[in-house]
Amino acid sequence: MTLSPLTDVLRVAREKKVFVIGFVVQGWEDAKAFVDAASETKSNIILQAGPAFRKNMHLEAIARMFETLAKGTTVKVVAHLDHGNDFETCKRALDAGFTSVMFDGSRLPFQDNINETTKVCDIAKRYGASVEAELGFVGYENKDSNKFTCPEEVGIMTEQVPIDALAISIGNTHLQSSHLAKIDYKLLAEIRAASNISLVIHGGSGVCPDDRIKMASKYGVVKFNIGTEFRQLFGRSLRAFFAEDKVSFDRFEIMKSVQENMKNRAVSLLKACH
Ligand SMILES: [Zn+2]
Repeated sequence: MTLSPLTDVLRVAREKKVFVIGFVVQGWEDAKAFVDAASETKSNIILQAGPAFRKNMHLEAIARMFETLAKGTTVKVVAHLDHGNDFETCKRALDAGFTSVMFDGSRLPFQDNINETTKVCDIAKRYGASVEAELGFVGYENKDSNKFTCPEEVGIMTEQVPIDALAISIGNTHLQSSHLAKIDYKLLAEIRAASNISLVIHGGSGVCPDDRIKMASKYGVVKFNIGTEFRQLFGRSLRAFFAEDKVSFDRFEIMKSVQENMKNRAVSLLKACH
């Protein structure tokens, strides 16, 4: 299939009161493993290119890679720019063929965030692409602290700006390597009451699986970004391979077991979404 906008995938998930996973991609091997897992479980998925990946591989090449993978499957695949920090990056992603962009204005004052997000929405609509915004600030483990999302700001932004999804900060944190997140359900309920927008959780690796299901079925959280647990698995799989095998040097031979492990984990995660 051709790449799908984020809204198509979120609509289906919300109707079923389930969630989709935004897979944080770092290269061909994991992207292929995620799409293979999606095909096997008949799940729609989002392939995300974040800032670290974009430093390593050209945005245009990433777009072609996502497009190629989408053509080889019958499930919906979204090519999503994760944490686009300025208008130019979002525009470049849209020109390259991304079907969804996150404009991350979470470090900006509220009104500036509204203004910049509006500009990104204006251009994205011309490409038929979706826009995810962020309110509050989702921090980074052992670095930047969380700033929880204000429900009133959610009401104002979603009234004024035609975003398709909103990332919120309610106890979730980027880069958590175990299920440490303590979700503030009272705040989540207030955010839900303020707007009907599809809600997104970054730092999904830190949220325990039962919370993911509860947040999706009862509160309209429809997208969880998952990256850290796959990066951990990648490192563990490589170390295990080299502990056993002291002679292999061929990339494809080495990556075979890693890719298999990534795919199996993605299959079990995707099965838990339904
Ligand atoms: Zn994030």
